[in-house]
Amino acid sequence: MKVLVVGKGGREHAIAWKLSQSEDVKKVFIAPGNDGIAIENKCECLKIESIEEIMNFVKNNNVDITIVGSEEYLAKGIVDKFEESNLKIIGPNQKAAQLESSKIFAKSFMKRHNVQTASFNTFVELKDALEYSKKASYPLVIKADGLAAGKGVFICNSYEDSSQALNELMKEQKFGESGKKIVVEQFLKGFEASVFLLLDGQNYKFFNVSKDHKKLLENDQGPNTGGMGAITPHPDLDEKLTKVIFQKIINPTIKGLEEEGLLYKGFLYIGLIIENGDPHVLEYNVRLGDPEAQSMLYLLKSDFIDVINDIKKERVNTTNIEFYDGLSFCLVLSSKGYPFSYTKGERITIKPGITSKIFYSGVKKDGENLLTDGGRVLSIVNKADTLEEVRNIVYDEAEKIHFESKYYRKDI
Ligand code: ATP
Repeated sequence: MKVLVVGKGGREHAIAWKLSQSEDVKKVFIAPGNDGIAIENKCECLKIESIEEIMNFVKNNNVDITIVGSEEYLAKGIVDKFEESNLKIIGPNQKAAQLESSKIFAKSFMKRHNVQTASFNTFVELKDALEYSKKASYPLVIKADGLAAGKGVFICNSYEDSSQALNELMKEQKFGESGKKIVVEQFLKGFEASVFLLLDGQNYKFFNVSKDHKKLLENDQGPNTGGMGAITPHPDLDEKLTKVIFQKIINPTIKGLEEEGLLYKGFLYIGLIIENGDPHVLEYNVRLGDPEAQSMLYLLKSDFIDVINDIKKERVNTTNIEFYDGLSFCLVLSSKGYPFSYTKGERITIKPGITSKIFYSGVKKDGENLLTDGGRVLSIVNKADTLEEVRNIVYDEAEKIHFESKYYRKDI
């Protein structure tokens, strides 16, 4: 089979790497990919980015199936365009992608179907939002309605914070169209979990639960990032809590998707916050998460192309999904300054003898050298029987990788 993966980060590296392990997969194309993924066996990165170019490539090269990693393409309707041309693709259409691309759409869906979530109000006028937040009790959370790469969420501790966030979003329009409408949400205190389901348009299957680390600094302080590290399976979930997650979150979500004709072929990621043992949905994402995909796919024992084929053939409920025993651990190395401004073009050196897998996000090649080219540069991923064991291996190996402005959290 020939497969194409859409996106360019560590998540797409993990997807491409896992697919390349399959005997049935002869070639994995990644559009656009990055120079770190291109090192992988059977993988070829294409320097194309537009949906039209990707579709032409798929048609001209008889690609059997396309898997979309990146949410931006889903929000732009890549799946609708592929399906109009009878090309096979894994991902939601533009209508279902609103579960991620519009927080107002998602929160209204949750309300309609009794999926437990933080209470909320929506605003389209700055004046109304300011007035509301003057009288509100704090902390509260202000979110851009549209996509903002994890950066359109503001935790506000005072009216001063709120008015600054609201002005940035609605007046200065820092996130363009994404911040024209906003959600103001009740602040929840607890720990977070990322639940992953496989959907095939008819059925669903539970995949795994990971622990992401969204904040830049240790002890979950500092600004939100795309994710600084992940552990799979989530070490703080027990059977009792998993049962509650099915009851209050997964079952009503699936029922709602069925009733509204929104079940699609692909991955559904439910971001949860668990407050005193009670799960609430923070967000839906309609694709695999990054960095969670890196730790999850590293731990997956089953052939990933079999899973993809079962999604395609609408029999995902019967798919046999096996993970290795133990836990996998993903540590993100970023450039100092991320998620704001940072330098690019620093040489990356790796001492020999590293046993962990390295997934690349923001890198480019310069002759034989690999240089930094993004905020999140690469991830170190490994697995072991215990969290302590795998954590020690990965942190040890983080010291063997060097670039000048290397930064990572020490408490994943
Ligand atoms: P992502 O990068 O996951 O796509 P996003 O921009 O879609 O993020 P959310 O997942 O809704 O936004 O929020 C980002 C982070 O902000 C959460 O992971 C959580 O840490 C924090 N957060 C969001 N909503 C709340 C809330 N109601 N209470 C407490 N913290 C919250």
